[in-house]
Amino acid sequence: MRLSKMFLPTLREIPTEAETISHKLMLRAGLVRRTAAGVYSYLPMGYRVIRKIEQIVREEMNRQGGQEFLLPVLNPAELWQQTGRWDVYGDELFRLCDRQGRNYCLGPTHEEIITTIAHNEINSYRQLPQLWYQIQTKFRDEIRPRFGLMRAREFIMKDLYSFDRDEAGLHESYMKMHEGYTRAFTRAGLTFRVVEADPGAIGGKGGSHEFMVMADNGEAEILYCDGCEYGANVEKAVILPTKHEDIDFRQLAERELVYTPNCRTIEDVGLYLHHTADKAVKSVIYETEKEEYPVVLVLVRGDHQVNEIKVKNLLDCLYLSLAREEVVNQVTGADVGYAGPIGLKEKIKIIADPWVYDIIDGECGGNKTDHHWIHITPLRDFKNLDIEVADVRMAAKGEPCPRCGKTLNSARGIEVGHIFKLGTKYSESLHAIYTDEDGKEKTIAMGCYGIGIGRTMAAAIEQNYDQNGIIWPAPIAPYHVIITPISIKEPEQKQIAEEIYTRLGKAGVEVILDDRDERPGVKFKDADLIGIPLRITVSPKYLAVNKVEFKVRKTGEACLVDIDRVVDEINAFIEANMIKI
Ligand code: ATP
Ligand code: MG
Repeated sequence: MRLSKMFLPTLREIPTEAETISHKLMLRAGLVRRTAAGVYSYLPMGYRVIRKIEQIVREEMNRQGGQEFLLPVLNPAELWQQTGRWDVYGDELFRLCDRQGRNYCLGPTHEEIITTIAHNEINSYRQLPQLWYQIQTKFRDEIRPRFGLMRAREFIMKDLYSFDRDEAGLHESYMKMHEGYTRAFTRAGLTFRVVEADPGAIGGKGGSHEFMVMADNGEAEILYCDGCEYGANVEKAVILPTKHEDIDFRQLAERELVYTPNCRTIEDVGLYLHHTADKAVKSVIYETEKEEYPVVLVLVRGDHQVNEIKVKNLLDCLYLSLAREEVVNQVTGADVGYAGPIGLKEKIKIIADPWVYDIIDGECGGNKTDHHWIHITPLRDFKNLDIEVADVRMAAKGEPCPRCGKTLNSARGIEVGHIFKLGTKYSESLHAIYTDEDGKEKTIAMGCYGIGIGRTMAAAIEQNYDQNGIIWPAPIAPYHVIITPISIKEPEQKQIAEEIYTRLGKAGVEVILDDRDERPGVKFKDADLIGIPLRITVSPKYLAVNKVEFKVRKTGEACLVDIDRVVDEINAFIEANMIKI
C-alpha cells in the first residue's frame, strides 16, 4: 500500500473525547472514528487489525474442532421469552418492532438462536459433541459506553457454544476452549492471566473463567497468588472464614445503647467512640425483587466492603440496590446511618459475613436515630438473631490466598475473553434434547465462550505503546514493514524505495511505502504513531554504501542491511516476531 493513496487520517492533537491510552491512540492513528455513543466505524488500518485478531481466533477455534456459523443479529422476541431473558436482560437489550408489530432484539449474545438450532437438528447422542461458533456484531445498550472499543454498544465478538451429552463432556469442551483461548491470546502477543470469574447475567452455575489482559487501565481488579496458580476477579475471589478465638464472655462488658449524635458513617462513629473501623459492624440495607425478602440487611466488618455480586448470588436475585430512605426509616425506625441487627422494627432477612464474628467489644447501629450499641461482641450479642452467615465481602490485596494461604496480590486487567459452563439452563427452556444409547431422552449440556475482538485490539494497545504511539505485536500489526525514503523527490531514493517495495510485495510481505512528499520528521512520526513493527529508512547516506536502515519500533534498535539482502532479512524478522506455539 502506498501511503499517498491510503486513507489514514492521523491526528496530531490528542482528541478530547478520549480518556484512555488505547482510545486516544486509536483515534490519533486513524484506526477508528466515533459514529455515536459506543458506536464506532473501523477505518481501513483499524479493520486490518480486527481481521488479524479474528483470524487468529478463528484458527484456534477451528483447531479445537469449532465450526463457524453466522447467526442473525435480529433475534425474534419469542425465543427470548422462552428462556425468560426477554424480561430479565433489562435495559441492555436493544429492542425493536417490525411493521407487523412483532418484537425483536439485536443479539447481545446468541444462546437462544443457537440452542434452537440444536433443538431442531440434534436428536441423537451420535451427533454430539458439537462446538459451534461465529464472529458477529453484538449489541448491548451499555449504561456507560466508554473507552472506545473497550466498552462499546455495538462490537464484534467471537462466541462459541458447546453441546455435550453430559457434565463430563461439557468439562472436556470447556478445557478445549481454555486451551484455544490460551493459544489465541498468546499468539496475539498479549500478556494475560486466566482467573476465576462470576458468570454474571448469562448465568449457569458450573464454573467460569475470564481471560484478563494485564493493564494498569483495566476495568477489572484481579487478585492473584504468586505461591500457587490461584487468580480471581475481585468480584469472585473467595475468602476463607476466619477462626474465631475462644472468647471468655465473662471478661466482656454488657452491651449498652449510647448517644452518638450525627454519627452516620463508620468513620463518624470511629472518631466519636475512639475506635478503629474493624471494631464496627457495618450494616447495609438493600432492596431486591424477591417477594420472600424484599429488604435485606447485610453485615460486614467496618473496614470491609460488601460484595454485591456475592450477595446477589446468595439470594439468587437479579436486582440489588441500596434501600431507599423511606424503606430504611420503616425497617429501622431511625434515620439512615443507624441501622443494625438488634431491635429492627420489621423482620427482614439478615446476612452476615463470617468476619463480623471476629469483632470483640465493638459497636453497631442502634436502630434509633443518633444511637449506637457499644460493647458488642457478635458471637454473644447476635446469637439469638436469625442471621445467615456467608462470604459476602470483597476480598482485598494482602489477604491470605484461599488455596495456599500465601498473601494475595492485586493487579488490574481487561477482560478480553470469558468462558462459562452453562449446564442445562438454555437447553432445558428451549428443549434441546437428544436420545442416548439406551433410548432415554436427555438434556444437552452446554457451555458458552466469548472473545471481544475490538476489546482485544484496545487491550493490545494498552499493553504496547510509548510516548510516540502504538507498538503493535507483529502477529496483529496492520502491516509488518513501512518503507520511508527521506525524500521521495530524490530519484535514487525513490527508485530504491520502489524497488524494495515491489520485491517485498512479491515476497508476500505486508508493506507500506511512505511515498508522500513530506518532511522526514513527519513521516517518522506517523510510522511510530501507527506502530508498524519495522521501518526501512532509505537515505542517501546509506545508499552510498548500498545499504538501507532497519529500525525496530519496539526496541528502537537500528542496523544497516545490504539492499539485496532486504527480503531475506525482513522474512527473518517476521519469522522471529510471529509467535509460534
Ligand atoms: P463485562 O463484564 O466487561 O461487561 P461481560 O461479562 O458482559 O463483560 P460477556 O458477555 O462474557 O461479557 O462477553 C464476552 C466478551 O465480549 C467479553 O469478555 C468482552 O471481551 C467482550 N465484551 C463484552 N461487552 C463488551 C462491550 N460492551 N464492548 C466491547 N466488548 C465487550
Ligand atoms: Mg457486560
